[in-house]
Amino acid sequence: MAFIDAFRNRYQTEIDGIKAAGLFKEERYIHSPQSSDIEVEFPAGSKIKKCINICANNYLGLSSHPEVIAAAHAGLDSRGYGMSSVRFICGTQDIHRELENRLTEFLGTEDTLLFPSCMDANAGFFEACLNEQDVMIADRLVHASIVDGMRLCKAMQDTFKHSDMGHLEEKLQEHMDKRSRMIITDGVFSMDGDMAKLDEIVELAEKYDAMVFLDDSHASGFIGRTGRGTHEHCGVLGKIDVITTTLGKALGGASGGCVSGRRELVEMCRQRARPFLFSNSVAPVIVAGALKVMELITATTERRDKLEWNAKYWRGLLKDAGFDIKEGESPIVPVMLYDAKLAQDFARDLFDEGIYAVGFFFPVVAKGQARIRTQLSAAHEKHHLDVAIEAFKKVGEKHAVLGLGKKELLARAGA
Ligand SMILES: *Cc1c(COP(=O)(O)O)cnc(C)c1O
Repeated sequence: MAFIDAFRNRYQTEIDGIKAAGLFKEERYIHSPQSSDIEVEFPAGSKIKKCINICANNYLGLSSHPEVIAAAHAGLDSRGYGMSSVRFICGTQDIHRELENRLTEFLGTEDTLLFPSCMDANAGFFEACLNEQDVMIADRLVHASIVDGMRLCKAMQDTFKHSDMGHLEEKLQEHMDKRSRMIITDGVFSMDGDMAKLDEIVELAEKYDAMVFLDDSHASGFIGRTGRGTHEHCGVLGKIDVITTTLGKALGGASGGCVSGRRELVEMCRQRARPFLFSNSVAPVIVAGALKVMELITATTERRDKLEWNAKYWRGLLKDAGFDIKEGESPIVPVMLYDAKLAQDFARDLFDEGIYAVGFFFPVVAKGQARIRTQLSAAHEKHHLDVAIEAFKKVGEKHAVLGLGKKELLARAGA
């Protein structure tokens, strides 16, 4: 009994502070499979409500695809439920290696290693491959898991302004004395939905003898003409030294991630990456489902094509309605509100109208950058989006944000 009142009070005060600042996050319980139409209990204890989901990373609509589910069932029957082991002791089945080979082929790399998640891939990669003699130069908006991975590594850390190639070049010049330089970026940035200028990054990497690290979690499976990712979109397939990505978004949405890239870098991870060595292997049922996902997405580009259409259509609807959105080409479409409390109220009102979207605010995005992040899916039909936009208009009118530009919205947020 060491949790004395003083400890309890301290944490309660902190939690109260989070609430007072309008930054408190509440969970919503979903009673159905993940899909465009879901059943939600919110707040806890209330009646279950049918909603249109417009905030999942279910980009290709494969999270509950009948063929993926069937393959997962078959995998469960043939390879069992769990491995009860990390990979290097007795956690590697033939299907783990088969999935790694499929990913290597799809991503256009030399080898691939599965991790329990992409968060783990990012947590393990840097420490396994770099040390005091090297420097990591990261875009300032990289995903939190990369920031954590860099913290665990002894290499020198530096950053460049978001997508600012001039600044990146300065940094590369500044660090020519290091044994090696690694440029680190997301492919599609998760909060704004914009894409890295990978073609220019590769050019700079070649000029200054630097390696390129790409986290393509919000791109693998659908960005690029055949969905291989941001490197395909930017015309630099085969030129990225390391790609990390997740199975938890477009690629079935269950869990798992990987490091894919130069043979030697992947081998270093197999020997040294701590989340690979000290955490359980991806469950066979997920591996079996993911193998089916790889088969589906290489057989046809139908799903990524539909997703592209949906994203374009949705962007048009929001713009015509008078919302301030972040421009881009990805299926991540942020509706900017700039105020945390407004973003939360807005999401709650959308929910009352049968639309499931969540407000994003600090610390998920910078202070004063609150928004509703909408995300499209190949599982959306046109009617989903037509219904959703009516709800957005109604709630937008209620909060008087329609037709307001960034300046006016910011002024309002500051008031
Ligand atoms: C979602 C995401 C991750 C984390 O993936 P998990 O497999 O869920 O751990 C890592 N990096 C980026 C850029 C992401 O968007």
